[in-house]
Amino acid sequence: MIKVGINGYGTIGKRVAEAVQLQDDMEIVGVVKTKPTYEIQGALDAGLPVFASTKSKIAFFEEKGVSISGVTEDLVDIADIIIDCTPGKLGVNNMEMYKKSGTKAIWQGGEKHAPIGVSFNALTNYSSSINQDYVRVVSCNTTGLSRTLYPILSKYSIDNVQAVMVRRSGDPKDSDRGPINSIEPVLTVPSHHGPDVQTVIADLNIQTMAVKVPTTIMHVHCIIAELDREPDIEEIISLWDATPRVNLLEGFLNNKDSKIRNLPGTAEIMELARDSSYTRGDLNQIAVWKDGIHGLDNKLYYYQAIHQESDVIPENIDAIRAMFNLESDNLKSIDKTNKALGIN
Ligand code: NAD
Repeated sequence: MIKVGINGYGTIGKRVAEAVQLQDDMEIVGVVKTKPTYEIQGALDAGLPVFASTKSKIAFFEEKGVSISGVTEDLVDIADIIIDCTPGKLGVNNMEMYKKSGTKAIWQGGEKHAPIGVSFNALTNYSSSINQDYVRVVSCNTTGLSRTLYPILSKYSIDNVQAVMVRRSGDPKDSDRGPINSIEPVLTVPSHHGPDVQTVIADLNIQTMAVKVPTTIMHVHCIIAELDREPDIEEIISLWDATPRVNLLEGFLNNKDSKIRNLPGTAEIMELARDSSYTRGDLNQIAVWKDGIHGLDNKLYYYQAIHQESDVIPENIDAIRAMFNLESDNLKSIDKTNKALGIN
């Protein structure tokens, strides 16, 4: 059993902890919290050992009646691997601590690729992480773009991809994020998402733009891929149908008299996820609107929705398996993770 520690128990950290607990080849040995806020309750309920981020914080936990198993360095010493889920751009500062105790580590998409050196997506470049010590699981947006663009490469060459990310402004729990009544474009073009895809699909010619909108539940991507020939839409649909962690959904139900609204937007898609008893009402799969896939000349047009809080969770599990070489075949790891998490 691989001993896994979680450093940073927020949106991503708590979900990775829950996912690890559902696997038969890894276990959680502790989680690090900076403060005894409400989010600690899930760890306590699950009986997970809690570690304070630093010695100076221990008294704060004790005052609140939370017993502490040590500090971050203690967890790093007993863990085989740390999943660093601290806020973006902070996590990489922990690399020296992990190196000092010879503990492997995974970071999240808020970190840059360069200081870590290996970026991960289970479908596109699993083998690059086999036996590696330090790996970054790419962001929710990059994961989404990679999962749908990569399968196309098995039948077509992609000359160029242009994509616009319509991004949620914060997660549902983030009452301090915004905007709440504005649409904010990312004025640097291309946005960082395109180059980030190239860390897991080398040589893909892709440029992206992004806007932030006042919603919390999902991102939507509008994608135009220029292929080497006219896309056969039925063929593209079968490629995505056969791709793990991609779900084709119908925006409208067609009958002979009218079109009936089915899953026209992210609100309905997340309600479907909640109806389907996914853990927490999450949707680990990328949702592609089947009736939004179109071809014009050599260009393929499609829309997809990303549940930002959860699409990267199974990726973290597969990354652990690759880094300890528990499974050398990416599709077998994906299948094992999916079965354990109930992803269909
Ligand atoms: P979050 O703010 O929900 O959680 C971060 C947690 O780390 C918080 O509990 C915070 O208190 C804790 N923390 C802060 N400093 C710490 C320290 N020094 N030591 C230990 N814990 C510390 O953030 P998140 O959304 O879970 O993001 C974590 C990472 O995952 C980031 O790199 C982010 O970019 C990436 N990510 C986030 C999302 C998303 O939509 N939320 C999606 C994909 C990837």
